[in-house]
Amino acid sequence: MSASDLLWTRFQAPLIPVRGETRSAPVNRIFCVGRNYHAHAVEMGRPVDKSVETPFYFTKSPQTLTVSGAEVAYPSGTNNFHYEMELVVVIGVPGFRVPADKAHELIYGYAAGLDMTRRDLQLVARDKGRPWDLGKDVEESAVIGEIVPMPGTVLEFGAITLEVDGEVRQSSDLDKLIWNIREIIADLSHYYHLQPGDLIYTGTPEGVGAVTPGAALHGSVADVGTVDLRIVPGE
Ligand code: MN
Repeated sequence: MSASDLLWTRFQAPLIPVRGETRSAPVNRIFCVGRNYHAHAVEMGRPVDKSVETPFYFTKSPQTLTVSGAEVAYPSGTNNFHYEMELVVVIGVPGFRVPADKAHELIYGYAAGLDMTRRDLQLVARDKGRPWDLGKDVEESAVIGEIVPMPGTVLEFGAITLEVDGEVRQSSDLDKLIWNIREIIADLSHYYHLQPGDLIYTGTPEGVGAVTPGAALHGSVADVGTVDLRIVPGE
């Protein structure tokens, strides 16, 4: 089928650069873990008891993917646009119903990411029992840095930080993940046939907050990489 057989141009998400690779990574799906650091769950007023709860997820469409270094317009419909700094797991091998002790086999690598959020709309949805899409599936809101290939490697610790205009706003460690990377892959693969190009945003630590036009965000995950974003005035 050629382009002339299509009514309009087929959507293609931006490609993600990969360290040490001339080839880039196409995205498949974007999964996000909710409330995966205790201190963030508490700041959102929803503490997590792992002994009785399971992880939960939301998704962002591939249309939201934005590569680090972008300028992003302040989105419409919000007065409380928040940053959430996260480690992103990049899936490179298909898997379904994967046990935790084999979860590493699916991992291609990692990236630093930002899960940008219309917090006001997310909280209205949460409190009314509505879907989170207007709060989370925001255009240009799934920001990702360069992918670092680490096939089969499970990250268990490492500093995760976010600065806004040079000031540290989030500072934690991957060892504080409530559900670790093995547990997330095992659980998520119970519901989805995970595929190469699937991204898993693993949740944000405490310190989330609002940004306004002009803000420069710089995030970092130790031994992985960085992510940068500038907010510019909205349409
Ligand atoms: Mn998040």
